[in-house]
Amino acid sequence: MEYPFFDEPFFDEPMVGFVRGDDPVFDQLKDIIGPHHFTPREIIGWQAENNGVKPPEPEEISVVSFVMPLTRNTKQDNAAATDWPSERWAQTRLLGEILSQALVREIVTDLMGRGILAVSPDVTPMFNKKRYPKVGWASPWSHRHIAYAAGLGAFGMHDFFITEKGCAHRLGSFVVNLKLVPNRRRPEDIHAHCLHYQGHQCLKCAKRCPVNAITAENAHDKETCYKKVAESLKYCNKHYNIFIYGCGLCATGVPCESGIPKQLLPLSKYPLTKSG
Ligand code: SF4
Ligand code: SF4
Repeated sequence: MEYPFFDEPFFDEPMVGFVRGDDPVFDQLKDIIGPHHFTPREIIGWQAENNGVKPPEPEEISVVSFVMPLTRNTKQDNAAATDWPSERWAQTRLLGEILSQALVREIVTDLMGRGILAVSPDVTPMFNKKRYPKVGWASPWSHRHIAYAAGLGAFGMHDFFITEKGCAHRLGSFVVNLKLVPNRRRPEDIHAHCLHYQGHQCLKCAKRCPVNAITAENAHDKETCYKKVAESLKYCNKHYNIFIYGCGLCATGVPCESGIPKQLLPLSKYPLTKSG
């Protein structure tokens, strides 16, 4: 991190998951998110065309997803905040994201240098967030849904992605022309790790939200959330001297912050897909 947290790391030990490019989950994502969401075949097809080579078949492709958990310091600071993101959180949103993109770019460049076609959708010109009729603000490659496909976790009421190391993290992913063996099994229920969805009392995330964007009736209202997050740009600029927006108050100081809530363990109680 930068001043005043010189030399602190942004992230703890990452987790990695692999999923086959021909897993039917990618067609389901087109239905759930919308037709604008790329399949691995479409995105690597773009890279193949750019490089003048034949696009690989879906069964020759894999997707690699990784989770980089935020540090305890960052989570503690944000958990103590009540209106705006903490400084460590804001730095991680800006500089941690730059680090994450640089990392994935390096991996893709290294693979391509070895003659292995690879692409990270969010460092291509096609990656930009837009407002879609069915899902509101969304991107054509959702790292969270890719992480779900790779068996790394499930979604909470707050729409953050709850992994074994919690929901406070940055996610990344890339597509590669290699057959990698899936190493995790995804839960059938996309909300398998959220107390509220599993019939337990919680909604701590709703209590943490300063603009009531999370309610039992409507789950996560993305528009209300988006407005609050957009407003934080001025706050971060004025107080932290960096140009970034963020919030994450509902992802910290809650039972799913740093792991799967203990009431939902062991995971073997919950149905898992075979293909994950
Ligand atoms: S705080 Fe509770 S209700 Fe909210 S996402 Fe986490 S487990 Fe679910
Ligand atoms: S990220 Fe959105 S939903 Fe969560 S606390 Fe902030 S404004 Fe509320």
